[in-house]
Formats: sequence, structure tokens, C-alpha cells
Amino acid sequence: MTRRMIAVVEDNADNRLLVQALLEDLYDLTEYATGIEALNGLRDSPPDLVLLDISLPEMDGMAVAREIRADARLRHLPIVALTAHAMSGDREKFLQAGFDSYVAKPIIDENTLLDSIARLLAPIPANTRG
Ligand code: MN
Repeated sequence: MTRRMIAVVEDNADNRLLVQALLEDLYDLTEYATGIEALNGLRDSPPDLVLLDISLPEMDGMAVAREIRADARLRHLPIVALTAHAMSGDREKFLQAGFDSYVAKPIIDENTLLDSIARLLAPIPANTRG
């Protein structure tokens, strides 16, 4: 069975554990704690989707998203913003910055996250299923 790979970029270990608990039964996960580490890892092995915290040390999620969109091999990756900055108006800002979707922390309803991810992942072709 082909599983999709999701890169989780999140500096908070508790949040990484939570995301892991919510997603590990459905997806293969690669975790990164910083933006620099993430960009190196994404270039080495591009995932199917990136779940990207905004508030990261040194290089924030907005900058990471810009780097992804500027990289020919990565620019088509779906990126979901994962952020505590759930202020009105931010959603538009994130979408304009190149994010495809936006999930506010704390994640109260896990379906919000699962639906955002599922909507962005193209279906696996039938002939590779199984
Ligand atoms: Mn953070």
C-alpha cells in the first residue's frame, strides 16, 4: 500500500507529538524542528505535502514557504500553515504567501487538519494501489 509522505516542520516537541499521533496511522511522516533543517531535508527527499509551523526560530514559516515556492523541484508541493496566529486577516496573508491552506493551533478538531491534508493530496492512481 502506497502511503503519502508528509513533512512536519514544527519547533515545539509537544506539537510534533500531537501531529504525529493524529497522522501516523494514515501517512508516513518526516519531522523537522527548524526551517533550515526542513529545506535541506525537503530538497533531499521531497514529500507529498508540507505541514509548516509559522513561528520557528531563525527562519520563520513564511520564509520557508517562500524558499519552497522559489525552488523548481519543490514549488508544486502543497503547504499547510500550522499556526497559533489565528488572528482575523492572517488567513489571507498566509494564502498570499504561497500556503495552500491554514490550520490554527491549538488543533481542537482533528478533522480540520485531516480534511485540509486530504483535500490537497491528489488521489493515488488506482493501478498503484494495493
Ligand atoms: Mn513554533
